[in-house]
Amino acid sequence: MSAPCDVVIVGASLAGLRAAEALREGGYAGRLTLVGDEPHAPYDRPPLSKQVLSGWVRPQETFLPRLHPIAGAWRLGVAASGLDTAAQRVDLADGTALDYDRLIIATGTRARPWPVEAEAGLGGMHLLRTLDHAAALTAALEAKPSRVLVVGAGFTGSEVASACRDRGIEVTVVEQGSTPLAAVLGPVVGGHAAILQRRAGVDLRCGVSVTSLFGDVQGRVRGARLSDGNVVEADVVVACLGAVRNTEWLAGSGVQAGPAGVPCDAACRALSADGAPTDDIFVCGDVSHFHHPLAGERRIALEHWGNAINQARVAAANLLRPGSATNATALPAFWSMQFGANFKSVGLPSHGEQVMIVQGALETGRFVAAYGRGGRIVGAIAVNQAQWLPFYEQQILAGAAFPPDWRVVDQPQGATPQPAGFPGATPGAAYAGA
Ligand SMILES: Cc1cc2nc3c(=O)[nH]c(=O)nc-3n(C[C@H](O)[C@H](O)[C@H](O)COP(=O)(O)OP(=O)(O)OC[C@H]3O[C@@H](n4cnc5c(N)ncnc54)[C@H](O)[C@@H]3O)c2cc1C
Repeated sequence: MSAPCDVVIVGASLAGLRAAEALREGGYAGRLTLVGDEPHAPYDRPPLSKQVLSGWVRPQETFLPRLHPIAGAWRLGVAASGLDTAAQRVDLADGTALDYDRLIIATGTRARPWPVEAEAGLGGMHLLRTLDHAAALTAALEAKPSRVLVVGAGFTGSEVASACRDRGIEVTVVEQGSTPLAAVLGPVVGGHAAILQRRAGVDLRCGVSVTSLFGDVQGRVRGARLSDGNVVEADVVVACLGAVRNTEWLAGSGVQAGPAGVPCDAACRALSADGAPTDDIFVCGDVSHFHHPLAGERRIALEHWGNAINQARVAAANLLRPGSATNATALPAFWSMQFGANFKSVGLPSHGEQVMIVQGALETGRFVAAYGRGGRIVGAIAVNQAQWLPFYEQQILAGAAFPPDWRVVDQPQGATPQPAGFPGATPGAAYAGA
């Protein structure tokens, strides 16, 4: 293929921005256009559910630092609505179009909406994915609601509940799993998360779901009916139901795309309908769906900040110099802050069949849990013990045995592996947000 002279990046957030910077850093001197449907310059999402909701950082203080000049054209506030791969053209929702000779898809995910439209439209209903969502929810919390109901105790829901308690607001969390974080860390570590929530004063209801929401005559939400027959009164409801991948605009384009994301190879090349990698279309960030050596035959999607940056670099490097970089060796990693505890993980905990506390103890709130599958360690989560994670990273990369045969500081006596207990086994969906 000829050298690229016209690059279009669709999705102007973390992955899109870092891909653009990596292109310029890598010597790309041609035309560069970033298309983003949000009106804002790229901002950072992790603080939205943490420092922003807690009131320590204002929403407009989350814009991402620029690591390298981009010298590109920004098309913000307009969505890509279609892709013609034969003509190498991206159609935009305002009726204009952009020609490309290389395209990077970085359209990420959006918050899964509340499933009942009439209830979703009630005043006081919130989602949390964007800066605008965070600004609206922060304003609602500042108005001192009598009770917030959080539906879904994944990372986002747990962090929202934590921010409510930081502000002294009463909060009920409803989670259909057996514990908070059960889908991403399993019920053993999830059991510790439940203790943190209850100790902080959260009214935590696990093993139940919301069957309907009800409002008042002004159309404001007033509460929820639960599957166990109970009713929770609340004047703010935050639906933290996970994410939906932004792939609809690729329908009929010839690039594989669907609810699981946009499949790509280890060079971040998008796959065409016949499964062959394309030469001119790359994918990075939350929207991508790819094979990882830790996950075996299955493709995974990672909603991880670090993965978005890593894939952006891989995509940019291969766009400029085909075959020059791979995503296959990068180890997934994520973090969360909630109820004063620092959760940090490496590898794919949610791929584990077994879990074992390998340092510290659940009761002390300082521990490392390792996850194993097929006799190998595949992931680890440290709670208030992040300093030990590089060691586990090494073990995972080396394919070390599970249960572990190494000696470490603060190793609990007589610890044994337990079933990891993941509901429905969703390997890799480690920041499902739900
Ligand atoms: C509240 C919150 C807290 C988080 N906390 C953590 C954390 O603690 N640790 C961690 O590892 N990760 C965390 N994450 C995940 C992390 O933010 C994501 O992994 C990261 O944002 C992915 O970046 P991305 O650019 O791939 O996708 P996104 O950030 O989703 O960006 C995609 C962009 O593309 C735009 N777009 C979509 N469709 C179109 C279209 N058709 N045309 C044009 N533009 C389009 C979207 O509007 C969006 O602006 C958190 C996420 C959220 C929402």
